[in-house]
Amino acid sequence: MSGANFILLINLSAAGLLAAAFMAVAFHDVGRVPARWLASGYLLGIAYFAIEFSIPAFADARFPVVTAFAVFLGATMAFNAGLARKYGVAPPWSPMLFFLFATTIAVYYVQDLPRQSLARMMAYQLPYAVMQFVALAIVWSSRQRLAGLDRILMAVLALSGMQFASKPFIAHALGGWGADPQAYLQSNYALVSQSLGTIFGLALALLMLAILVRDVLAEVTSKSETDTLSRLLNRGAFTRRAEQAVLGATRQGVPVALVIADLDHFKAINDSFGHASGDLVIETFAGLLREAAAGHHVAGRIGGEEFAIILPGTNLAAARLFAEGTRSAFSALPIDGLPADSRCTASFGVAELHASEDVADLMRRADEALYQAKNAGRDCVRVAPVEARSSGEAEASSNSLF
Ligand code: GH3
Ligand code: MG
Ligand code: MG
Repeated sequence: MSGANFILLINLSAAGLLAAAFMAVAFHDVGRVPARWLASGYLLGIAYFAIEFSIPAFADARFPVVTAFAVFLGATMAFNAGLARKYGVAPPWSPMLFFLFATTIAVYYVQDLPRQSLARMMAYQLPYAVMQFVALAIVWSSRQRLAGLDRILMAVLALSGMQFASKPFIAHALGGWGADPQAYLQSNYALVSQSLGTIFGLALALLMLAILVRDVLAEVTSKSETDTLSRLLNRGAFTRRAEQAVLGATRQGVPVALVIADLDHFKAINDSFGHASGDLVIETFAGLLREAAAGHHVAGRIGGEEFAIILPGTNLAAARLFAEGTRSAFSALPIDGLPADSRCTASFGVAELHASEDVADLMRRADEALYQAKNAGRDCVRVAPVEARSSGEAEASSNSLF
């Protein structure tokens, strides 16, 4: 068996394993559609290698060569469709299928040219290059945020496209691609060409697997951190993010403040209007917090009807303004499912991080301020004293401060 033949067999097995890997990913909800297309791409890859393997057995190679071409181009299109679905872009089916049709006819007719003709070789390789650049354009045009792996994928797609485009010249430099299909498999060019195919085919598949798995993990993590009713962070995730935000702010030497809010007389809302209406109030308040929060703020639902938001880079005065704004917006907001004239309110406690304090201390002091707000009649904001003092002084201090 020639070296190129051996690599063909390796490619055939690798394509099978990769198709199986994509099918395994397709069982997961996230990325199911892209993974199915990618699996189809690599299944077509198996068919291509099988046809390529059998070409020397045909007396007239025209039909298997044209079929091999069309099947491999189809494989790159299935790959592109999976890529498009992954990156939220509509797969360009019409132009791709037209391209498949036109180039297959062209490859059929260039078989009439002398076997060593550069035009014949180009007609065979350039369409593959075009499909790799289409893949590159798909990732490029995505509206999703592109991270390191996506950029590596773009670089490999560009290299792969250039590899296909340069194959006719590589073949020329290596002394041609054999006088007939049998000689092709014995040629140096076949060895190089099939090896390059292995490298790029494997690299692209592994990158796509890594990207799919990365996104599945991100989705699972995000689900485990999100409270389903409010769509804010749950308590555990909030505490972790708050700790990170506090560390970051301390390192940068900027202030960080915490606002805790608790809905007023919420038990009475449940009792009067039902639990489902109570849930709507929670959703409405959470929506308001999400709207009010900036990108660097961290908001969470830390209890049944208790919410918290960390404001990095914000001092006590600004955090109090934030709380006041949210309080007055909420108290004026009509709530779906509740009588038109009924309004809900919330009480707020605000604290700014002291040096040498941790998140637990900060939450305890904000909680004390919230307690003061409840005692002061609810629907109001109270701030924790700037210097650590007993909680009894919280209200007096807040009044004198602002
Ligand atoms: P206060 O003004 O002092 O905060 O009074 P409150 O009635 O809001 O406080 P209390 O702690 O007595 O009651 C909170 C209620 O919140 C009790 C609980 O049934 C309700 N609750 C907790 N989680 C949920 C939820 O997910 N949905 C609904 N509808 N109610 C909830
Ligand atoms: Mg309450
Ligand atoms: Mg409560």
